[in-house]
Amino acid sequence: MEPPAEIGMELKDVDTPALIIDLDRFESNLNLMSKQVEDLGVNLRPHAKTHKSADIAKAQMARGAVGVCCQKVSEAEALATDGIQNILITNQVVGRHKVDRLVRLSKKAEISVCVDHSENILELNAAASRANIDLAVFVEMDVGGGRCGAFPGKPVLDLASQVVQAPCLKFAGLQAYNGQAQELRSYAGRRQATEVVCNAVEETVLLLKERNIQCPTVTGSGTGTWEFEGSSKVYTELQAGSYVFMDASYLRNENIDGKVGRVFQSSLYIYTLVMSATSHEYAVVDAGLKSIAFDQGMPAVVGDLGANYYEPSDEHGLIKLTEATRSYSLGDKIMLIPGHCDPTVNLHNWYVCIRQGRVEQVWDVTARGALY
Ligand SMILES: *Cc1c(COP(=O)(O)O)cnc(C)c1O
Repeated sequence: MEPPAEIGMELKDVDTPALIIDLDRFESNLNLMSKQVEDLGVNLRPHAKTHKSADIAKAQMARGAVGVCCQKVSEAEALATDGIQNILITNQVVGRHKVDRLVRLSKKAEISVCVDHSENILELNAAASRANIDLAVFVEMDVGGGRCGAFPGKPVLDLASQVVQAPCLKFAGLQAYNGQAQELRSYAGRRQATEVVCNAVEETVLLLKERNIQCPTVTGSGTGTWEFEGSSKVYTELQAGSYVFMDASYLRNENIDGKVGRVFQSSLYIYTLVMSATSHEYAVVDAGLKSIAFDQGMPAVVGDLGANYYEPSDEHGLIKLTEATRSYSLGDKIMLIPGHCDPTVNLHNWYVCIRQGRVEQVWDVTARGALY
């Protein structure tokens, strides 16, 4: 399959729907985060589930990231094959087949993984032993996310002790990620929620010390809360991912000044075509459920504040025409900011990277469909 654009082409000639990166904005996001973590004195291990791209992972590592996070073994396999050497799987890897793949991958790249169950520790240790490797393991804490992770205190301590005693595992530290706090819209709300988490993690690190277990790394955090974990003196590593693109949902987060959209900028778009303009009430565009994710709301229309995208179907969407919107003609091409970047990216094979109105790069979505 050919990509929807060629290097050197003008933006208006790019085929639609296309997944677009505005390189100036994207690079400014990367540079800003890399400067911030340097000032805070913490490591950055960006989450690659956002972009699934070896090119972007390399751009992050060139700016000082210590490695990347992946969510799935296959995602890590795809990135490792394309040269990414240091990957934390921020997830539980369960079952013989997956665990064997994980262990095999550890022979190609520096791999670590999370656990929250004692049976899983036994399974990982057995596989590492069969393969004759040492596997780095983080104990994941549930810090209010209400999903994976052992509860703070004794459950986490017991798992950490078990990892320390397992002959083929290395205790790498704690993972504590509070997904629920990332998109609390108020700045104070996110700060408060993160303070509670940092206290629970700090207490657990002290309890580990009492059992003579050193905790080399505390890893977690995301685009909504990075500055709070980053300045906590508890976390040593931040896992923010969406900051590279900033979807429409994240752009609704308030910053410290109570305003939105002031820190990181949107850099990811869906370029779409007005393919039918027969109605006075709406224009029909060619991007629908198969090119945009809608779980975090409708996409925003760039450059037309009054315009609303609505009624997505497989391959179509409508833009409501009102007195507040500009007029749309057949063949017009417009940019949308997707509501949720990660699942939107996974719908595409290519990033078309634009600078000053021209295609500068075409990157593949390396780990598209790597969900296993
Ligand atoms: C998704 C995720 C992140 C990154 O979150 P963003 O909101 O995209 O910055 C970090 N850590 C874990 C464990 C995640 O699942």
